Amino acid sequence: MTEKTSLVGLSIAELTSFVTALGEPAYRGKQIFAALHQRRLRSFEEMTDLPKALRDVLNEKATAATLIVESKYQSTDGTRRYLMKTHDDLPVETVFIPEERRDTICFSSQSGCPLQCTFCLTAQLGLLRSLTPGEIVEQIIIALNDVYGAGEKTPRGTNLVGMGAGEPFLNFDSLLNALRIMSEPQGLFIVPHRVTVSTAGIVPRIREVAQIPDRPNLAISLAAPTNELRDELMPINKKWPLEELLAACKEFEETLKPGEHFTFEYVMLAGKNDSEEHARQLANLLNRHELHAKVNLIPHNPAEPLPYQPSSADTVERFKLILESKGVHAYIRKPRGRDIFAACGQLAARRENNNFQAIKQSMVAL
Ligand code: SAH
Repeated sequence: MTEKTSLVGLSIAELTSFVTALGEPAYRGKQIFAALHQRRLRSFEEMTDLPKALRDVLNEKATAATLIVESKYQSTDGTRRYLMKTHDDLPVETVFIPEERRDTICFSSQSGCPLQCTFCLTAQLGLLRSLTPGEIVEQIIIALNDVYGAGEKTPRGTNLVGMGAGEPFLNFDSLLNALRIMSEPQGLFIVPHRVTVSTAGIVPRIREVAQIPDRPNLAISLAAPTNELRDELMPINKKWPLEELLAACKEFEETLKPGEHFTFEYVMLAGKNDSEEHARQLANLLNRHELHAKVNLIPHNPAEPLPYQPSSADTVERFKLILESKGVHAYIRKPRGRDIFAACGQLAARRENNNFQAIKQSMVAL
């Protein structure tokens, strides 16, 4: 199976080369692309507009789907979490979040994550491997098919956030390829301005994205206003400390075009990074770098065995008011899907009778 080509990860041009190499006419490339991405078909059998002989050849040489949904969890707030596995048995998680006027799908860029943020459960898996472009795109196809049915039109717009497991900027090429495939009008047609990618602060990639014309919106995870605290919470800070990170952010901000969004994320951990002094330090830091981006305050989503609790609603509100009194826009993000381990920082291949990798934890009441 592994030697077969996964067609979901190919662009129209690549798919066209693939079919012409099989001796087929070039237009079959576009036809198969539309079947995979616009009609969201997951098997060649269903592509009945292709000759039977071609479907047989495709079955022999290629795959229309590689991810398998292992389990699905649905939250009381409508959020759905999919725990899937790759052909080599690694966990991939995706979260579907219905909102009033749009749907948001949170996808993973890696199985596990190499970063060791102390407040994030995914860190405990370590990096299993980076996902291929096809595996990134398949997550969106699977979620949409589950919610609306294969091939059915989606009634609302779909936004994507690259905030699931993994560090997207450590899987940069596959991420950009996947986004390009998903933006095709003949496919899913989810354009870059509907996509937000979150990074823990891989500085060279932030600079690179600043030079890319068709790029997604960017979010930067801060979590702390000083190097001392950020080194502890997000060890990646030792490699690219705050001053360097924020200088790259400023470079990026200067390239923003109308309609593009740039935000900071700040996870609020009770008694750790949520004091009034932290709020003042954060505002001063952003002001010193002349950054105008909004700060999203994310109350911590607790999960055993993480050693933190969320800040109280009052504390978060006070933090926000201090930021705003210093001219920094702030927004409090409402957690979704906490009850099914679908919220930020809770993706760690959890399931009932969990025995994936080394993760064996009991469900905690939230
Ligand atoms: N590696 C990327 C993307 C994944 S994390 C990054 O670091 O940005 C997406 C967001 O979830 C980040 O802003 C992170 O700070 C936040 N997060 C991680 N663990 C969390 C938790 N337990 N509770 C709330 N937010 C969390």
